[in-house]
Amino acid sequence: MTTERVAYINGEIVPESQATVSIRDRGFLQGDAVFDTTRTFRHKIFRLDEHLDRFFESLKYMRIEPGLSKAQFADITHQIIDANLPLIGEDDDYWVSQRVTRGVNVDGEYIPTVIVESVPLPFAARANYYREGMPVVVPSVRRTPPEAHSPRAKVHNYVNLIQGELEVKAQNPDGWPILLDMNGNLAEGPGSNIFIVKDGALKTPKEQYILSGISRRVAIELAQELGITVEESDIDLFDAYTADEAFVTSTSFCICPVSSFNGSPVGDASVPGPVTDRLTRAYSGLVGMDVAGQYLSRLDS
Ligand code: PLP
Repeated sequence: MTTERVAYINGEIVPESQATVSIRDRGFLQGDAVFDTTRTFRHKIFRLDEHLDRFFESLKYMRIEPGLSKAQFADITHQIIDANLPLIGEDDDYWVSQRVTRGVNVDGEYIPTVIVESVPLPFAARANYYREGMPVVVPSVRRTPPEAHSPRAKVHNYVNLIQGELEVKAQNPDGWPILLDMNGNLAEGPGSNIFIVKDGALKTPKEQYILSGISRRVAIELAQELGITVEESDIDLFDAYTADEAFVTSTSFCICPVSSFNGSPVGDASVPGPVTDRLTRAYSGLVGMDVAGQYLSRLDS
């Protein structure tokens, strides 16, 4: 049996080692590319249609024509996952991404590069965040404002978020970056949205300044079902330091508790706090598996 995953590239499904991109590709040269990423839960793909809707909005914003329909992307995504699932254990799951770059200029016309690929989720590397909580650190680098480039589009260029991450990791290798927007309110981090809990209600930044995370939407939906008030509003550092609880959401993390902001403990520092715990349980119910337990099971003791 082969041990190499396959990927789709420009009409073909090939071993990953053969899925290569030209050195003239604008995605490589300038980060001029769009992507979206969902994951599997117990080997089933989560909310693919919603991810593909967001993917096509990002493509529209970037004026890239992928040359394939949403239905074709869905079909290819299922083919890639089906081919790669035999390579991981029952308790593992995949990230699965669709990517389109503006491509290579051939006789004055850009021919897009289209990729669908999957990679196992890094449960062990992140497991401790579910036991100890995430120490969030706010770097001095601000999130790209919508006036420069809308953070609502999911594009390959992560340099702004990477600058924030480099600054945070230099101070605390375990620190999780959450950048401020240009007004000094919490925005988001690399691959993650932020929520705080105050007096039993949730607050999360407004969509204009962030990527509209699918997991953020799930957390909002679940909160509403549980009768928990949710407000999309500005959250400054005072709000963060005085929050009762906080958590991040992302495709991989689902809901992950935050233990501190810039070293200042959140609430009574118990992890997860009661509202975060309720929402995590509801998330697990929705996807049919213990989402935090999948991480925690990778801890040695
Ligand atoms: N914010 C940014 C900048 C992201 O790249 C991501 C996901 O990759 C998120 C937030 C979370 O979005 P989702 O919940 O759809 O994974």
